[in-house]
Amino acid sequence: MPLSKQYQTVCQQIADACQQAGCEIENVQLLAVSKTHPSDRIRALYDLGQRAFGENYLQESLDKIQQLKDLDIEWHFIGHVQRNKTKPLAENFAWVHGVDRLIIAQRLSQQRPSDMPALNICLQVNIDGQDTKDGCSPQEVADLVREISALENLKLRGLMVIPAPNNVQAFADAQVLFQHVKAHHQQPEHWDTLSMGMSSDMADAIQAGSTMVRVGTALFGARDYGKNT
Ligand SMILES: *Cc1c(COP(=O)(O)O)cnc(C)c1O
Repeated sequence: MPLSKQYQTVCQQIADACQQAGCEIENVQLLAVSKTHPSDRIRALYDLGQRAFGENYLQESLDKIQQLKDLDIEWHFIGHVQRNKTKPLAENFAWVHGVDRLIIAQRLSQQRPSDMPALNICLQVNIDGQDTKDGCSPQEVADLVREISALENLKLRGLMVIPAPNNVQAFADAQVLFQHVKAHHQQPEHWDTLSMGMSSDMADAIQAGSTMVRVGTALFGARDYGKNT
């Protein structure tokens, strides 16, 4: 299927899910996840109107940012953040979604160039207790929100979750946690992003209150991981 048709289909699915959930379409953002796909595909989707793109692999994303620097793209890093790789993230991205420890946030804040706007951050939470190193526990969220919110060059916007596929309950749990933090937040208007939902479960995520769906396969087709190992 041509990219324009895929894009139209995904936008329509988001609009339909919003309508069903009774939310405003402008409250749900589409993040186009372009990992493993070449920069000419990103350029093609940009030409169709998409501005926010998500990448997972540092070197690959830096190459693409360089190749596409003539475009007004909002780059989101959605991969695992390694402690010794924070500087290029701080220097090249508008958003980092995978922050799950204070030390990572502190480094990003220190390394954010002073002539750039604050770096937008989502705190990654292991919402369904998966056996993974990624994401803080729900119990750690309150302290991390307080500590990260105090860092100078960051703007902590909300939560990011990657539950097991089609775990609808995890989306509901993430929404409860998100609202709980908002209710106790010093500046609740700054707490506006719940990043959840991917190609296979974006409608469920929107139903549960997602404000940003991260969609790769439904836009660009299947990924060829052979190239990245
Ligand atoms: C790859 C990836 C996505 C996109 O997944 P699709 O199933 O291709 O839509 C979304 N979020 C994260 C964190 C990812 O790594």
